Amino acid sequence: MSALPPGSTIGILGGGQLGRMMAMAAAQLGYHVHVFAPERDSVAAEVAAKFTCAGWHDSAALIEFARDCDVITYEFENVPVAPLAALPQERLAPSPRALEVAQDRVREKRFIEEAGGRPAPFVAVDHDSELPDAVDRIGVPGILKTRRDGYDGKGQWKIAERHDVHGARVPVSGCVYEGMVSFECEFSVILVRSRSGEVRFWDSTRNRHVHGVLAHSELPAPEIVMQQVAEARELAKTAAAALNYVGVLTLEFFATANGPVFNEMAPRVHNSGHWTIEGAVTSQFENHVRAICDLPLGDTSSVSNRVVMDNLLGDDALDLAGHMADVRAHVHLYGKTEAREGRKMGHITRVG
Ligand code: AMP
Repeated sequence: MSALPPGSTIGILGGGQLGRMMAMAAAQLGYHVHVFAPERDSVAAEVAAKFTCAGWHDSAALIEFARDCDVITYEFENVPVAPLAALPQERLAPSPRALEVAQDRVREKRFIEEAGGRPAPFVAVDHDSELPDAVDRIGVPGILKTRRDGYDGKGQWKIAERHDVHGARVPVSGCVYEGMVSFECEFSVILVRSRSGEVRFWDSTRNRHVHGVLAHSELPAPEIVMQQVAEARELAKTAAAALNYVGVLTLEFFATANGPVFNEMAPRVHNSGHWTIEGAVTSQFENHVRAICDLPLGDTSSVSNRVVMDNLLGDDALDLAGHMADVRAHVHLYGKTEAREGRKMGHITRVG
């Protein structure tokens, strides 16, 4: 592929805030964006030139959408992979294999082990009857997670004591039982990989989660993260190369006394990289667009050694003027109408 000229159309599968911020970066570079999403009230479609509202399994709509797009990417890792087979594969970036790996926690952990990484100890649990044995092997405390469709701590049950297994139910799509990792903090590695295989990393933030949802990312990360970033980056780079990945890829880690433990990966831009919009020379969104359009990658350096990003969840987001009382706050709202409790409504970044 040669560089896509401005005026070309980028297709985005998925209609959430990640697509919204990607579409804004694409527009800045002179591209048109066409969003495909099943939900009518897509916050990405609001800022895009075109919107196809159709189900993931509507092949006719997908093919029609693909005809309009010069390149197609994702802002949502749970896009069903089977219908994508009908689309011109050379137009998809990253390739659907990255989705396949990331959509199944068991497959993802095995893939990371093959790449030389270390996930939390885990056992696949396909049926309720297999759970007691899994808990015996891994021990308590642990977490039972759905293999598929889990996000932001959803589809997870803590098993604190052995008798908790009696209340747990394993869905037909299966689960994974993993040991509870004792960590000092969490961090992410976000990289961008070009079509020619060039890789650049953003600085790794320390990430704090509340009830399984990212609440806060900050630079500089503590010393323990700094000591473990090189190893974590090496793993991320190997994983990206194994997938012949194009675009932004995120790996989340636990920083433990024994080194970095892999938690999960996202084949897309990531919430813990929102700070890069104002805190880095080139944001994760712009570099994703550059990579998929085969343009030179931008500088991923941070513009300050101190950057803080706070998510606005639920009602927190409503007081726009209040957030602006801090004149240095970069406030982002995603345009969601319903401020359900814990829902990601926006974020605020402070640099310096
Ligand atoms: P996940 O959706 O799997 O990333 O889980 C959301 C959050 O739950 C993580 O960011 C951690 O804070 C916590 N968590 C998940 N798995 C584990 C684990 N095996 N050990 C300790 N904490 C975990």
